[in-house]
Parts: sequence; structure tokens; C-alpha cells
Amino acid sequence: MTKNKTCNRKKIVSAFFGCLFVLLALGGRLAYLMVFQSDYYSEKARELHERERSIKAARGRILDANGTVIADNKTVCTISVIHNQIKEPDRIVEVLSKELGLSEDFVRKRVEKYSSIERIKSNVDKEKGDAIRAYNLEGVKVDEDYKRYYPYDSLASKVLGFTGGDNQGIIGLEVKYEEYLKGEEGMILTVTDARGVEIDEAGEERIEPKAGNDLYISLDMNIQSYATQLAKQVMETKQADRVSILVMNPQNGEIMAMADVPEFDLNHPYDLPEELDTDGLSEEKKQELLNQMWRNGCINDTYEPGSTFKIITAAAGLEGGVVTPQDQFSCPGYIMVEDRRIRCHKTTGHGAENFIQATMNSCNLVFMK
Ligand SMILES: [Zn+2]
Repeated sequence: MTKNKTCNRKKIVSAFFGCLFVLLALGGRLAYLMVFQSDYYSEKARELHERERSIKAARGRILDANGTVIADNKTVCTISVIHNQIKEPDRIVEVLSKELGLSEDFVRKRVEKYSSIERIKSNVDKEKGDAIRAYNLEGVKVDEDYKRYYPYDSLASKVLGFTGGDNQGIIGLEVKYEEYLKGEEGMILTVTDARGVEIDEAGEERIEPKAGNDLYISLDMNIQSYATQLAKQVMETKQADRVSILVMNPQNGEIMAMADVPEFDLNHPYDLPEELDTDGLSEEKKQELLNQMWRNGCINDTYEPGSTFKIITAAAGLEGGVVTPQDQFSCPGYIMVEDRRIRCHKTTGHGAENFIQATMNSCNLVFMK
């Protein structure tokens, strides 16, 4: 009898500890999932139930010294499809391929793809976007965003630079001041059920985008326009490959104009010049040509100051009292410096000349002396 009791008690105790162990193990696992893994799983659930569409921020504008807008934004549309909401796939394929000028195959692949949201085309004109919206097709989303627009086309192209498909700066000021210009993207969050159908009561959560800052620069588009015209004329008459003109305010170093012709069209920066034969060129070679076309020689290339530096030499000589305007010189066309024979640009020599005449002649010999 006593033996039986002890045996029962033993059974109860071991059952109790067994249950306790299982409970503890389950509790531990639960705590692990809820506390330590909660970020991971809530993220997974969010991905499943929330559909995000980003709202592009308006990029900051660029304005010249007179406050004229030289880089602006234009409203464009992004067309996307949401697989689960599509009711008439054939009609959508037909309408979108016709309106957007895309092949039916291209559109159908995206319409039939099982994903939460699929982008068909971005940078679509606003009128076209409105037209597509007017069809009222279920599952087709038309979101508005911005595209960079340059009202002066090619003027100051190499200074301003341009932006890429996601509105990010590629070259020039657009990339230099990217962090100030870009702003912050917003977001539209829509909550869906497990099948991806939007839950109406949950509504939409909008995180508003933050517009970028405007950039004010010292360039004056009037002076820039004159400088560009002049540079083009010189390129024509001298049959030059490239001509650069830099206009600077000597009082404070502000750049008022920076022309480097040939310039390129900022609204179509990937179009190479028409006279260039690009047929059969590799992508690499084309990219090389584009880089050449975009290159701002004023800041990327070095060029010896040459005779313009004689102004400095002359001013220093006059101020130091080592030369007076009336001092006489004689130029035989060359001068020996140590063991080197250095020529004047006029190899036959300028002959007798005073300092004023030497400066007018830009005589190398006098300035060396
Ligand atoms: Zn000379």
C-alpha cells in the first residue's frame, strides 16, 4: 500500500516536472520570438500587408544671379499595375501598350507578373497620365512625380549638369550640391489582406515628401549667353575643336559666365551630336564619347597661362622699380639662359623697343630679362 502511494507520487511529480519543462520551453520560445525576433517578423508581416509607393520630392531649383530659374521641375507620371486588383488584363494590356507606345509583350509580362506592384513606365507626360487615368482601369495606378527640366536647353550645360532616371545628379552642380537639392522622398502606405487586396477601412497612410533646397549661383545667364555666342563664333572662324570663355568678377572671384563650346542639350543629355557616326559603336565607346561631350574643360583641363601671365611680370617689375616704361631693350629673336637658347615668338626679333612697346609686342625676351 505504502509502496503504491510512493509510486503514484513519483509519477505525479515527474508528470508535473515534465509539464513544467514543456511550458517553460514553449514560454521561452515565445519570449524569444516576441522579444528578440519581433523586428524581423513584424517587418515580414509589414512587407506582406503593406504596399508602398514612393512619392518623389520636388528637387530644389537652380537660380542664376538675377533670380532666373535655370533648372526646374516638370510634373510627370509613373504608371504601375497592381496584379491583385486587375479585373480586365487584356484591356489593360491593350490600353497601356497603345497609350505608352510599348509592345504588347512588354506590358503583358508586367501585367501577368505576380508581384505587389509593377512599374510599367516612368517619366510619362502629365497629359498622357491623365488620359490613362480617365480610362478608370482597376489595378492601374497613375502616380505623379517630377522630372528635371532645363528652360535654357544647352546654355551653361557643363556647369549645371543634369540628373538621371531617379532624379539624382549625374554631373556638374547637380551632383556637387546633390545633398541640398534632392529633398526627401515621401511614401504612400496601403494596407492589404493576405491576398493583396487593399483593406478600405485601413485607409492610406501618407508620409509627405520634403522638397529640396533651391540653389542660387553667381552665374548670370545674360553674360553666359553672350560668352557662348562669342565662343561659338571663335570656334567657327578658327576651326577650333573647343573654345572656353570664363568671366569672373575680379573683386570677389565669383564666376559670372563659364562657356565651353560645343555644349550639349541638358534636356537630352544622352544624345550624341548628329554629325557623329555612332552606328556599330560599342556601348563602351559611346559612353566614352558622352563623357567627352559632358566634360567641362574650364575646370577639368589645364592650360598654361602663357602670355597673359606677362601682366603679372610687368606689374611686379614696375612696382619693384627694376624697370620703367621708357627703358630700352633690343630683341634679336632669342636669348641665352645658361646653356639654353630660348626663342622669342617673333624669331626674326623685335629689334629696338622700349618697355611699353615690348609689352604691346608681347616680346618674350624682354620679360625673360
Ligand atoms: Zn621679341
